Amino acid sequence: MNLQEKLRHAEEEAASLRRQIAHQQTTCQHRFSEPKYDPILTPHMVFSHYKGVGSDPNPVYIQSGNDSESRWSRTCSLCGKVEHTSKRKVVQTEPDFG
Ligand SMILES: [Zn+2]
Repeated sequence: MNLQEKLRHAEEEAASLRRQIAHQQTTCQHRFSEPKYDPILTPHMVFSHYKGVGSDPNPVYIQSGNDSESRWSRTCSLCGKVEHTSKRKVVQTEPDFG
């Protein structure tokens, strides 16, 4: 089997596995883990200086830490499906006489 045939075989195998995973995830009785805080981090860019001379200098930005967007993730222990959410709901509290 030459490399082209190996690659085609591997791609067919991957496509088959993707179909099986999709089917498994739609029929699974998901058992999700406890949500885990999983923020989306993006570079926070700040102006540093201008590069070049004349009437059209280019601003140069450098990274200063990260911006963080709240997100939570949970994973199904049966099929491996990962769900993300950035939504939160209000949870009522109850009196505790303990
Ligand atoms: Zn599942």
